[in-house]
Amino acid sequence: MTKIKSIRSRVWNWVGPTVPPKAHFCTNASDILWEKGDAMSSFRFHQWLTCEVEAQDGTVGIGNAALAPSVVKKAIDDWYAPLAIGEDPFDCAYIWEKMYRRTHAWGRRGIGMVAMSAIDIAIWDLMGKLVGKPVFKLLGGRAKEKIPVYYSKLYADDVDAMQAEAQQAKNHGYQAFKMRFGYGPKDGMAGMRENLKRVEAVREVIGWDRDLMADAYMGWNVDYTRRMLPKLERYELRWLEEPVIGDDVAGYAELNALGIIPISGGEHEFSVIGCKDLIENKAVSVLQYDTNRVGGITAAQKINAIAEAHQIPVIPHAGQMHNYHLTMANSNCPMSEYFPVFDVEIGNELFYYIFEGDAEARDGFLQLDDAKPGLGISISDRHLSNFEINE
Ligand SMILES: [Mg+2]
Repeated sequence: MTKIKSIRSRVWNWVGPTVPPKAHFCTNASDILWEKGDAMSSFRFHQWLTCEVEAQDGTVGIGNAALAPSVVKKAIDDWYAPLAIGEDPFDCAYIWEKMYRRTHAWGRRGIGMVAMSAIDIAIWDLMGKLVGKPVFKLLGGRAKEKIPVYYSKLYADDVDAMQAEAQQAKNHGYQAFKMRFGYGPKDGMAGMRENLKRVEAVREVIGWDRDLMADAYMGWNVDYTRRMLPKLERYELRWLEEPVIGDDVAGYAELNALGIIPISGGEHEFSVIGCKDLIENKAVSVLQYDTNRVGGITAAQKINAIAEAHQIPVIPHAGQMHNYHLTMANSNCPMSEYFPVFDVEIGNELFYYIFEGDAEARDGFLQLDDAKPGLGISISDRHLSNFEINE
């Protein structure tokens, strides 16, 4: 039996070229402030964390996280790694509880849970490699022939530019598309019209037989959303994502109960109990945890069971292999989010530059390999000159 020998955390700072975002490209939680400052600072992922869990036999599992990487690294190095080192990786559920309970006073949400997620994902990758099986085969196996993905970009821009982007994505065979709202409460009626104009424009391009979703990234509030929902109803959105801040579970529940457009959220929720509250309160009609925030694959599988029992579909936030393996293994996960590869903008796409082996969408689907052990990724050296790495 092999045990966990060491855990290595690294912060990857992107110093390569970036495409600056345009004004009003996406609302966010800071829009409500009188003086926003750099409101996008929490919506930019130009730093990434990798976590490598090495077993005594030299096998290495890889996990990663994107929220506050430098602080998460400190939490891993000082607190979480010592709790996992020396344990049998196949006792992953015990390791999870140990990390969770020993840091419960301060770690059960936010930074602590992100640190746990990175380690847990690496442990699952390690287990897969040790037994020579892909992670999804350890989670129940193949639940679908291939994974339908939705095109996730369409940041608010000039109408012409958004229509051109939607057309290009449609040409690539996507059957579902997610756009972002650029205007919120402070932009008044004129901003509402700007939002509606763009939904209409994208709908016009993709037609009515494909799914359209729209994301406010916590930049609205309950009052504004109540006013927007009836105006949006005619566009038949599959869901309206994160209309209010992550902590406002009652606000989500109130908006979802209106029954006008299904409300989605969860990418800023943490842990099994946090997601259980969203589900039990019927706060979301689609749950969108992110495995590298919510507590890793161990937590995600428990949440999947709760959501399935309540008939709430789970469509994890973001692409990435840890999310795809869960989607593959669960019948209650109908599709995955997919960030098409582009130049580095927000940084959502940074993982493509750090890892080798991420699944690529073709004609609106992606595939996982039955023969590739673990998550199927390795750390790449192709773009090293564009990173400064802190060890
Ligand atoms: Mg989102």
